Amino acid sequence: MKISLVFARMKYKTGDPPGGLALIAAHLRNNGYSVDLIDSTFHPTMDYIRKRIDDFDADYVAIYCDSLMLNDVKKIAKYAKSKGKKVIIGGPQATLRPETLTEFSDFVVKGEAESAMLDILKGKCKEKIIQGERFDLENLPIMAYDLLDMEDYIKLWHVFDSIDPNVRGTNMFSSRGCPFRCTFCQPVLEKIFGKGVRTRSVDSVIEEMKHLKNHFGINAIWFNDDTFTVRKEWIKVFCKRLVDEELEMQWGINSRIGLLNEEEMRMMYAAGLRIMHVGVETGSQRVADEIYHKDIDLSKVHGDVAMAEKVGIRCLCYIMLGAPGETKEEILQTIKFAKSLDATEITATITTPLPETHLYESMKGKYKLTENYDYYKNRIFEDENISFSELKFLQKRLLFEFYTHPKRWGYVAKHLTSVQGLHKMYLKVMRFM
Ligand code: SF4
Repeated sequence: MKISLVFARMKYKTGDPPGGLALIAAHLRNNGYSVDLIDSTFHPTMDYIRKRIDDFDADYVAIYCDSLMLNDVKKIAKYAKSKGKKVIIGGPQATLRPETLTEFSDFVVKGEAESAMLDILKGKCKEKIIQGERFDLENLPIMAYDLLDMEDYIKLWHVFDSIDPNVRGTNMFSSRGCPFRCTFCQPVLEKIFGKGVRTRSVDSVIEEMKHLKNHFGINAIWFNDDTFTVRKEWIKVFCKRLVDEELEMQWGINSRIGLLNEEEMRMMYAAGLRIMHVGVETGSQRVADEIYHKDIDLSKVHGDVAMAEKVGIRCLCYIMLGAPGETKEEILQTIKFAKSLDATEITATITTPLPETHLYESMKGKYKLTENYDYYKNRIFEDENISFSELKFLQKRLLFEFYTHPKRWGYVAKHLTSVQGLHKMYLKVMRFM
């Protein structure tokens, strides 16, 4: 039996491969199915997707769907149905709003899809909406990287640009889930991955890193775990293995303010940690506490970021502007705060409450919420505190002033020395235009 897996990324080309689908692909192949993995990142047209579906002529077409992809996914699902395929839809949209997808599909999978997909293909599922079982992370197969044009992703991969825009890197994960409660993220994450954190074995993570190094010449890994640093004991074992085995790969992680001390940072640096992303979001403690439920003490942010940079770990801080009820003074406070950080990079996005998050739910009835989700460029609600055009102006001003500061000249200069670096810088700038 054959199955096409579809990832319909039509804009914001990045070097991030669709890892979730690559994992499902590996799982299905290990169980004897023939799989095609279609990612439109480098061919963002419906014609491309339709042709790949036609050429492979599978029995099933399974499509990943998040809220940004919804319209494209509907078109693909309708096309596949018109060709007599059985259609399965999974991903965040399927998990949170399965009823929006039932009309176009045969099965909608909520939560993790690996096990549910097998059940569907074996004809064991009678219901249309299926709750996926949590996948056993102890026995993960290595993702089906061979089904993707890895060289295309590697060329665009930008996580290590502050170290070297020409590094050969890609993404992996070592755990699923996060115990924190940020309102713009939860309870969505819990609905997809369950409460708390589940982790892979150190052995399987090291094995996958070696596979990437040996097969694709990868020498840098971004761990896209939601909060890598909540597992202190695991990290110790992991770092020791990396040092003992002299793997000589650099890596990057998501962390949180207040989670790591200097000794831990130095241990991780010695094992190859070079990039750390942290969610700062705001310079206003009121906004952090009352609107985002960030559970961080903003007085620790400067120290943590400076400590990481001193150790040699380049920091990227996430900043969001324009939360519902955030005053103009608080936005200006955030801008001042962000500019004063020792971080090598920031991203400054427009606060975008996504459906089913606590933030979104708290706004219902108080704000008119549109569906124009694009946190680089749009705002899905209006707020009397600040107009959208002024917010956009402040967002661009923050980015301009941050990256033209002498502290960031080195970062910008790294992009100017190669065609690849210039291309990546162009893509990054255009996201906000
Ligand atoms: S720490 Fe990050 S992953 Fe965890 S709830 Fe907050 S935003 Fe989500």
